[in-house]
Amino acid sequence: MGRPAAERRAELVELYRELHDGHGCPLAATRTHVVFGMGYADADLMFVGEAPGANEDLQGKPFVGQAGKLLDTLLGEIGLDRSDTFIANVLKCRPPGNRDPQPEEIAECEPYLMRQVALIEPVVICTLGNFATKLLSGSPIGITKVCGRPQAREIAGLDVKLYPLFHPAAALRSSAVEQQLRECFQRIPALLEDARRERTPEPATVAVADSPTEQLDLFG
Ligand code: URA
Repeated sequence: MGRPAAERRAELVELYRELHDGHGCPLAATRTHVVFGMGYADADLMFVGEAPGANEDLQGKPFVGQAGKLLDTLLGEIGLDRSDTFIANVLKCRPPGNRDPQPEEIAECEPYLMRQVALIEPVVICTLGNFATKLLSGSPIGITKVCGRPQAREIAGLDVKLYPLFHPAAALRSSAVEQQLRECFQRIPALLEDARRERTPEPATVAVADSPTEQLDLFG
């Protein structure tokens, strides 16, 4: 932790290339694009969804369909834009027909997700839905029981606040879930502030901040 942002960003670009060129995923035969993820390479806030859908598969970018529009709306309501965050998925390739990710597919993609977390160094990771929540919490307890309850976890060697949330696609199917998701989003700014404070001890002197890194918007 604490490596220069530019160095971590360069490694993230390398990881993108590695995934793009050599991803031995069982889904390689049916996908159009590998969906690496996109956003701010030095983001404090990271979202992890389930897997690319049809639109994401075509465009090579995460959350570009209806669920992504809702994610953008909810972010906008708390004064954030997706470019302030990094958005990734458990799976980097679309499962045919949007079926559930299979254990061997999750196992193939997990090291890439862990390396993304290690390089981006987020302080808060919002898991969207059951698959991301179970994978990153390391617990079989489903999203309905843990939704909206921040958990202190060590992920990829980092102390992070894991914030399990309903998947936006579930919110599109139920206004009650949408309302709950909206209320959970409203708590993100305070959670971020607390997690940043916990990550960074009070400085004895005034620190010079890293210059902002560029956006990482690589696809296809
Ligand atoms: N649903 C997801 O979980 N991820 C995407 O990128 C799009 C829809």
